[in-house]
Amino acid sequence: NAPLAETDPELAAAIGRELHRQQDGIELIASENIVSRAVLEAQGSVLTNKYAEGYPGRRYYGGCVEVDVAEQLAIDRAKRLFGAEFANVQPHSGAQANQTVFLALVQPGDTILGMSLAAGGHLTHGAAPNLSGKWFRAIQYGVRREDGLIDYDEVERLARTEKPKLIIAGGSAYPRVIDFARFRRIADEVGAYFMVDMAHFAGLVAAGVHPSPLPHAHVVTTTTHKTLRGPRGGMVLTNDLELGKKINSALFPGLQGGPLMHVIAAKAAAFGEALTEEFRAYQRAVAANAKALAATLVDQGLAIVTGGTDTHLMLVDLRPKNVTGKAAEASLDRAHITANKNAIPFDPQKPAITSGLRLGTPAATTRGFGVAEFQEIGRCIGEVLDGLSKSNDGSNAAAEQAVGERILALCKRFPIYTR
Ligand code: PLP
Repeated sequence: NAPLAETDPELAAAIGRELHRQQDGIELIASENIVSRAVLEAQGSVLTNKYAEGYPGRRYYGGCVEVDVAEQLAIDRAKRLFGAEFANVQPHSGAQANQTVFLALVQPGDTILGMSLAAGGHLTHGAAPNLSGKWFRAIQYGVRREDGLIDYDEVERLARTEKPKLIIAGGSAYPRVIDFARFRRIADEVGAYFMVDMAHFAGLVAAGVHPSPLPHAHVVTTTTHKTLRGPRGGMVLTNDLELGKKINSALFPGLQGGPLMHVIAAKAAAFGEALTEEFRAYQRAVAANAKALAATLVDQGLAIVTGGTDTHLMLVDLRPKNVTGKAAEASLDRAHITANKNAIPFDPQKPAITSGLRLGTPAATTRGFGVAEFQEIGRCIGEVLDGLSKSNDGSNAAAEQAVGERILALCKRFPIYTR
């Protein structure tokens, strides 16, 4: 029972270096966050040892008394957080939450309608290389070229002509509030189920900073590790208890085996935190910081797809600086800013290059950064991109060095995991 550093120094060293990377860099990947000590502790607990196929009170294994307590806490807190009648907290990931809904509500070969990856949707919403694109007849809607907003008229036209069994809203790089009521009207007109994947903006919904899809959707899926600031994992919610029964049996025994009880305990811890006023204030800051960062980037001469953001994320169009997403991601990384390249709608570049960057505020807001710090980050990003713009071979050492020092100073002022 010796510590990891003694039993496996090679692995312990990698984990140690990752801690330092997180402490000394600014995390702007929109899908990431920094969990509390409590969430880490629950996830690192002995609950990892336990098999618990089934649901609380109805398990296929003995010895489940305490894991039942943990899972029931997670379920009850999730229901309170989102005002939902039903929650299944067992999906190992967001992808598996979505697969659970597919297994419960549609058959292989059925038509599904989701947002295309190129327009900001997620792989699991019907993209060709994903199971959702291989096993279903997946039709995809996009955004309008002129303003980057969802083309609801196109959604309506596709729904009428293609007659999907399931319509999906939500995405990974869409920065605006989605008109859930309009989607539901379209779904009702063609007799489709309506699913919202709120993986990205779930934390904002929990805090009342973003409209809730629950009153409109038949079923809502989410991840628990993005704005919601819990462990990596997924969840399915609905207000329809009959649908809930189908979801439960689709997840187990339909799709998964033993639930990850340590992760479910960490979900319970995170949902407990999310029920506090502190979390609501945090989410208001996430949204305000995103607006401040977007405005600063516009001042730096960049364009923001849709002109701004209603959420925690924005999609930066790098073309005004003549820089690619790939080059920007690499140069920012050397300046201690972590972000991901991302295709912009109608991107002229290949998916591995892109003309865009996706930026999000959840992780850095957790550190305590406010509007002033995000304005400083915006200026730092502008400086790195200007350096790249002037470079003719992709090298940008001077700007990376200067900005890297400012970023390190910011990180030192707002430390994480100090004990
Ligand atoms: N749905 C959306 C909208 C996402 O953005 C993501 C993750 O990026 C997922 C689902 C998949 O979640 P996971 O990576 O946990 O499978």
